[in-house]
Amino acid sequence: MKKHNFSAGPSILPQEVLKKTAEAVINFNHLNLSLIEISHRSKEFIDVMENARSLVKELLNLPEGYSVLFLQGGASLEFLMTPYNLLKINGKAAYIDTGAWSTKAIKEAKLLGEINVVASSKDKTYNYIPKNYTIPTAIDYVHCTSNNTIYGTQIKEFPKTDALLVCDMSSDIFSRKLDFTQFDLVYAGAQKNMGPAGTTLVIVKDEILGKTGRNIPSMLDFQVHISKDSMFNTPPVFAVYTSMLTLEWLKNLGGIAAIEKRNEKKATLLYDEIDRNSHFKGFAAKEDRSLMNVTFNLTNEADKETFDKLWNDAGISGLKGHRSVGGYRASIYNAMPIESVQVLVSTMQQLEKQIG
Ligand SMILES: *Cc1c(COP(=O)(O)O)cnc(C)c1O
Repeated sequence: MKKHNFSAGPSILPQEVLKKTAEAVINFNHLNLSLIEISHRSKEFIDVMENARSLVKELLNLPEGYSVLFLQGGASLEFLMTPYNLLKINGKAAYIDTGAWSTKAIKEAKLLGEINVVASSKDKTYNYIPKNYTIPTAIDYVHCTSNNTIYGTQIKEFPKTDALLVCDMSSDIFSRKLDFTQFDLVYAGAQKNMGPAGTTLVIVKDEILGKTGRNIPSMLDFQVHISKDSMFNTPPVFAVYTSMLTLEWLKNLGGIAAIEKRNEKKATLLYDEIDRNSHFKGFAAKEDRSLMNVTFNLTNEADKETFDKLWNDAGISGLKGHRSVGGYRASIYNAMPIESVQVLVSTMQQLEKQIG
């Protein structure tokens, strides 16, 4: 039996997507060729890329004027591509520091200009989302991280600013309804909520590009990738194809509105148990709790061995918390069925029964 996969990333994909991908690796579209041994310039693969890009536009309800790209280098390369493409020479940007990934984004941006960290929740191991901060004027952009995978916090209200708004959505893209017109640049590594590792989704408003006065190396230049329809160089064909299948799966399920309802149901089930069961306590501040990564600790560390055995025996995998937070992290991305969350909840109730 397949395990209940709570891994934070790479993470669970829909079972039917895995099956279709496996078929395509052997025999793609009845061509008697593998998906990964045909030209990316073939009509068959161009169709895959076009379909993947248009599914993103459709699912997120993107208006005209936004481009969708499937790039490589992970979200980590976007930490650098963002300032390259948006930070003017002698310009400034504002960053909101909500965790390890924000910190890495800040580090890269500092290579290219003056970065103001306008808010940070580092004082409490990033267990909350800072609010009520002021964003300075005369900045090129504001950067935020919508979902903090390690700590289990999620931004519910995005910063209001006249500057460009950039968001790292690696771990919650396609999970909830959002008005994308508020963003100018969004990026997300595929391996949390869209597909396998190997591609990064980039959504960028065309009109913001080409204004920095910088010489941008071709591979780091969004305009180069846009002008080549995301095929400037060989794209990660396997990752793009699998992502396309996941997006089709999501569309058939009813799209973002439908998955949001499911995600809320799963998260509520688990948070309710954390709050009810005196053997557990939640890590993230209640109002900032993530629908994707649920972080919690044992009230009594001495129960660790007992609890670890319970969930291991129940076929649960990937529940260990990140080393900086400890405890447990249940990543309940789009593809996670509610049945797996129920299994986790029942192991928590078993712990309560066993030790009283
Ligand atoms: C995983 C993650 C990243 C890093 O993604 P890579 O694709 O490994 O570069 C960045 N930001 C967030 C929010 C993440 O969860």
